[in-house]
Amino acid sequence: MDSHPLLKRFSAGFQRFQKSWYCPENNLYAELREGQKPHALIIACSDSRVDPVQVLDCTPGDLFVIRNVANLVPPYEPDAHYHGVSSALEYAVRHLRVPNIVVMGHAHCGGINSLMHASEHDHDEFLNVWMGQAQRARTEVEHALPDGTTEERLRACEMWGIRISLDNLRTFPWIREAMQERNLALHGLYFDMGIGELLYLDQETDTFVPMVRACAS
Ligand SMILES: [Zn+2]
Repeated sequence: MDSHPLLKRFSAGFQRFQKSWYCPENNLYAELREGQKPHALIIACSDSRVDPVQVLDCTPGDLFVIRNVANLVPPYEPDAHYHGVSSALEYAVRHLRVPNIVVMGHAHCGGINSLMHASEHDHDEFLNVWMGQAQRARTEVEHALPDGTTEERLRACEMWGIRISLDNLRTFPWIREAMQERNLALHGLYFDMGIGELLYLDQETDTFVPMVRACAS
């Protein structure tokens, strides 16, 4: 078993993790094993290239993370179905009382691409249903950019996906309550993987503005 190349790689990786976070005296886990108090709940895409802990260079205990296809938050629907995202939201907001919720979208998102080209994904069992909740993003883009290039339309749709997730967060009564009673803040981020830039959704102007510019070439 331990000769499997993937497990070998994981063993080496875990040893490096151990060295950083467990071996030093008074290491971070001495405190963290007593409980977590993350600075933020972040909803990010499952895409292997956009891990928020790596992209934002956070340490263990910093972020409570939900990842799914296209970083979507479904609306508040209290029924008997299995709500993975809503359960994690509930735990982070009502139990851990996180002070911030961040939705982080990204460029070249496969989920958003499948939403914009839905007919090519008709054979999917789950993906098109999941992405269907963001249909408004596609409609907004088709309305705003009827003549846009594919690239422009995808980027706009990725950004609309973030807005829709933020709107859906506000449909949860205990999120609205926490916003009023303890200043829970909602934020939108967009990781432009193409050029290595981070954008922030300015909620006053409803526009994405560069927060960290691409590296100078
Ligand atoms: Zn994605």
